[in-house]
Amino acid sequence: MQFLYGLHDCEFLKYHQLIKVIPKTIKETLSKEGICREPIDLLLNVKKTKYVTKLLNSLQIKGNCKNKRSSESKWENDVAETNTVNWKDIYTLPLTTVYDASWKTYQYKFLNRIIPTNKYLYRCKIKESSVCGFCHCHIETIEYSFWECATIQNLWNQLENFIKTKVTCFTLKKHIVIFGILPHTFQNSWLNYLNILMKYFIFNMKCRGIRPLYSTFKNVLIRWN
Ligand SMILES: [Zn+2]
Repeated sequence: MQFLYGLHDCEFLKYHQLIKVIPKTIKETLSKEGICREPIDLLLNVKKTKYVTKLLNSLQIKGNCKNKRSSESKWENDVAETNTVNWKDIYTLPLTTVYDASWKTYQYKFLNRIIPTNKYLYRCKIKESSVCGFCHCHIETIEYSFWECATIQNLWNQLENFIKTKVTCFTLKKHIVIFGILPHTFQNSWLNYLNILMKYFIFNMKCRGIRPLYSTFKNVLIRWN
């Protein structure tokens, strides 16, 4: 047991209890297909590092995760405008776009859909309601709180109008807001930068229960830079 799972011999009873509750069908499948030890190695690496997000992000970029993540499938189903989604480029983009670690971490969490929404918090009995904290008229999902909500649409429209004064023929679409503009080039780096910072701003306002205004975003941008 020490060799196989790193458990001390005195933990035999705990091990036995755990094994007993595993259904017979699952045990049979495991004995046929074998047990993948990769997650254990991953856990050990996570325990060793101080930079967990950086480690996980680098694994995703290298493509070490064999199966498509549920977050990736959900985004692909949700954003019908994109035919092919290059996840390696999407995960790399924030690393070369923003310099602050908290902005990089935030975009990583956003892509992995681990941003707490009212829908989720309500299910966990942390919030009393699942509706959007800005407009109070729809269930607050990630897509709703960062794109569909009228308050948020107003923000993106104003940002789009500003960008149009610098770039002709620019249209801000949902997939651009979620993934950024790809391929990431020097020319569009400032657009990707604004995109990540706007989402970070929306999340900050949401956490503080403040209605996000475009004028506040401009002031915050000056403070952040
Ligand atoms: Zn709303």
